[in-house]
Amino acid sequence: MKAPITLTDLAGMGVSRLQGVGPKKLKGLEILGIESLLDLLTHYPRRYIDRTREAKIASSALGEEVLILGEVSSVSSRRTRNGKVMVVADVRDATGTLRCTFFNQAWREHQLSSPHIGELAIFGKIEMFNAKRQMTNPVVDLVGTRTGKIVSVYPLSEKSGLSTWEVGDWVAQVLRRCADRGIADPVPETVLRSLGLVARQSAFAGIHAPESMGHMVTSRDRLVFDELLRLQLSLVQRQRDLERNSLGIVQQVGDSGGAVPGLVRFFLDSLPYELTGAQQRAIAEIDSDLARPIPMHRLLQGDVGSGKTVVAVSALLTAVQGGHQGALMAPTEVLAEQHGTSVRALIGDVSIDAPETLLGSRPVSVGLLTNRTRAAERRRVLANLAEGSIDILIGTHALIQDAVQFNSLGVVVIDEQHRFGVEQRAALRSANSDSTVPDVLVMTATPIPRTAAMTVYGDLDVTVLDELPPGRTPIETMWAASSAEEETAWELVRSQVSAGYQSYVVCPLIEESEKLEVASAEETLERLAAVELSGLRLGLLHGRMASDDKQLTMEQFRAGKLDVLIATTVIEVGVDVPNATVMVILDADRFGIAQLHQLRGRVGRGGARGFCVLVATSEVTADAQARLEAMVRTTDGFELAEVDLDLRGEGTVMGERQKGRNDLQLASLRRDRAWVEKARAVAVDLIGDGSGLEQHPLLGAELALVLDDEDREFLHKS
Ligand code: ADP
Ligand code: MG
Repeated sequence: MKAPITLTDLAGMGVSRLQGVGPKKLKGLEILGIESLLDLLTHYPRRYIDRTREAKIASSALGEEVLILGEVSSVSSRRTRNGKVMVVADVRDATGTLRCTFFNQAWREHQLSSPHIGELAIFGKIEMFNAKRQMTNPVVDLVGTRTGKIVSVYPLSEKSGLSTWEVGDWVAQVLRRCADRGIADPVPETVLRSLGLVARQSAFAGIHAPESMGHMVTSRDRLVFDELLRLQLSLVQRQRDLERNSLGIVQQVGDSGGAVPGLVRFFLDSLPYELTGAQQRAIAEIDSDLARPIPMHRLLQGDVGSGKTVVAVSALLTAVQGGHQGALMAPTEVLAEQHGTSVRALIGDVSIDAPETLLGSRPVSVGLLTNRTRAAERRRVLANLAEGSIDILIGTHALIQDAVQFNSLGVVVIDEQHRFGVEQRAALRSANSDSTVPDVLVMTATPIPRTAAMTVYGDLDVTVLDELPPGRTPIETMWAASSAEEETAWELVRSQVSAGYQSYVVCPLIEESEKLEVASAEETLERLAAVELSGLRLGLLHGRMASDDKQLTMEQFRAGKLDVLIATTVIEVGVDVPNATVMVILDADRFGIAQLHQLRGRVGRGGARGFCVLVATSEVTADAQARLEAMVRTTDGFELAEVDLDLRGEGTVMGERQKGRNDLQLASLRRDRAWVEKARAVAVDLIGDGSGLEQHPLLGAELALVLDDEDREFLHKS
């Protein structure tokens, strides 16, 4: 007997070997992206028609959404008074006639008058019109001559010229042909049993041709689990490989020993405040990573204002303490420069032994490198870096250019990871000329839900700063929906300014064009200067300004020489001016939750009470309304992240990083949260110390099948 058929086998067989697939159908399948039998088997139904829920026309309840099964008895079309095309079809079942009216769907006339159309499934809300039951723009699926309690409806494009039953028949053919040998199941029995999952073969049968909706759900669960398991296996494997195959640096974490004994302790003791419990836990977690010979690869998640900077500086100084260097990479120049300022201020006069100098010591030296750094300064920074007299280098992408050579890079902190790609992380990891790999700490102020973090950052360990420093008064958030309410916002700005505080005004986001966005910011400035905020010192900050001008404006604002900063979203991340207490966001409905949360985080950073005003009319989309209401309701970033995930689905968190992965066909990070966690646990278990997949060759082969290029390249490298 031959071995069961694997996914790899199926991926190697073309659909042209199916009966009924000639050159024309082949072309149609190709349009749908279906070339192999595996593509076909994983082309899952989009919807199911469940005959057990069928309603009869005569007894269908008014105002309810119902499913009607029937046949077309007549079709006609005409134009309405305002020029719209209106197609009217009468559909009949054993009990009566239902009138279906379609607006702006001229093609329906052709579709519904086809002689071979057969049975139709109509789904919609029953209304009464001229004493007749009718539906407006119902969902229509062609059942044709298909029987069975549940009928699958496949996603198709008109261009393919294929019908949903053709696809269904081919799938059935594949499953029939697989029946003898069976479809291999790579997941160990024990795992399946403990999670209550059905066998893969039965899952494929059940998702394509379920006997009941319950059958479909259990089948779907199994296939969802498989998708998530493959993803988690690749992430966990990547993490283990990194650990196994790279030579890390054993950092000097104690209070004694190293090149500069007690440096970190001295720094922490010199802070004007006590660390929060969360900061202490984070530092301890990071320290234990740093002390290991395996490179750290950790994500530090913390809401805006949770105090990530101190944690990061402690890690950077740990490198310095052991005679190495630290690097901090930020996504924008404004942020890099600001980090430079705040890290220098934090470190203050912490100094290190330097027997070669007159005093026998020198301050910890912090260098800055961005695209703004002028040639001469750049040469100096690079030389000092190579020789080791710069201890900590802060900058933008400029840090990872080839010319940048560290003497000995020990710890890398990457701020706002979502703006950087995996390649950039890899570039920093290989910055040392010997083969040692620095420890990497990724910081993000955009909280993401736990299960999403497991997926998007699944190859990182995660530390969460889940506590804000004491003494923060929560920010009060308002939604100004009328012009009267907007006027209150400007009053608030004026009164806060006269009390000695400062404000931000964020201008409408214009996705299509930065130029338009700048124009609108300039216009806003003029208007506010003339009317609402006349007499106040206003400054403008936008993405098209020269770097020097940006820097100057930021400095003026920081120094209190400007009362109000009118800006585009360049201030979104990380800008830290504790004296600013009001954030006004214009056309707030255009921003996503994460952005709004970031923007709001710019105020309430000092001891004084902070305010955030979201300006948007009450006539916004339902989603925008949900976003604004969530912002008013809570300041908890993790709660907002859950709302965001619910509203927008995985697009929010997957983003760039997951673009190449197309293996998540069925699984949804939102709906299938529970499965994400289970798949993660199984993956960790199966991979063990990193060699686990060798005992599960089928899973290994499947992984190779679905990995994207980036992952593949990665596996080759290691
Ligand atoms: P994040 O980067 O996480 O948004 P920061 O590191 O910029 O937060 O810190 C926000 C503010 O809180 C800074 O002004 C910082 O000085 C202050 N801060 C940080 N940790 C503490 C603490 N333990 N106690 C009091 N203030 C703190
Ligand atoms: Mg920060």
